[in-house]
Amino acid sequence: MPEGDTIYRAARTLHLALANRVVTGFTSVFPHLTRIDNATPIIGRVVERVDARGKHLLIRFSGDLVLRTHMRMHGSWHIYRPGERWQRPRSSMRIVIETARMVAVAFDVPVAEFHTEAGLQRRPGFNRLGPAVLAADFDAEAAVRNLQSQPALEIGVALLRQSLLAGIGNEFKSEVCFGAAVNPFRLVATLSTHDLRRLVDVARRQMSDNVLQSSAMRRTTRRADPAEGLWVYGRSGQPCRKCGEPVHARRHSTDARLTFWCPRCQPQ
Ligand SMILES: [Zn+2]
Repeated sequence: MPEGDTIYRAARTLHLALANRVVTGFTSVFPHLTRIDNATPIIGRVVERVDARGKHLLIRFSGDLVLRTHMRMHGSWHIYRPGERWQRPRSSMRIVIETARMVAVAFDVPVAEFHTEAGLQRRPGFNRLGPAVLAADFDAEAAVRNLQSQPALEIGVALLRQSLLAGIGNEFKSEVCFGAAVNPFRLVATLSTHDLRRLVDVARRQMSDNVLQSSAMRRTTRRADPAEGLWVYGRSGQPCRKCGEPVHARRHSTDARLTFWCPRCQPQ
């Protein structure tokens, strides 16, 4: 069964292959998809974005159309060059999306539906967000439990999952991990409940500070000098503000954005 992180990887691969490309061909064995294609053609639309939401893979086309697929047990998406030989039999093909450069093929995908964005958001249980970090009634314990439900994720990835806790973006992710002295590449499974509570508390404190602050410039260090506003974010190679060790930066495997951390203050 593909886990959430597999879906995220698949979404990323599809995004790199298809985003901003014009669809030149669309084929499916599912009549409910071809019906939509006949009524409002997929060809000529631009693939705007591919992303994952939980275990759903979402391909967003221009003109307010989202293709939602769910892999269940055996489904997968492959990327091929036009004319390249497929690695799975033609009989397993469910959907083909062609662009001039790349062809995306869904094999044995059991669930595939077209939605409008609004329809997707209305789908029961689909758009569930975790506790909002900045909400007055923020439930920190629920956020900790949600994080613990994803033991195989790196904490830096888990903190960005809006279904676990809502509101943390890429910049805060690095700052929160530094503030809690947790290495962002550690798996959630290796963190104690105490560690996770500390991360959640730091997130709420740092983000609340920034809501109150009038300037648009984010600040997590509570230092007066705006040039010293952040601990690690965007400071690759510069000395850590606590220990002087150069700040490191790299990407999580499932996320294109850089994560910043101090290897001495946040040991693996
Ligand atoms: Zn340090």
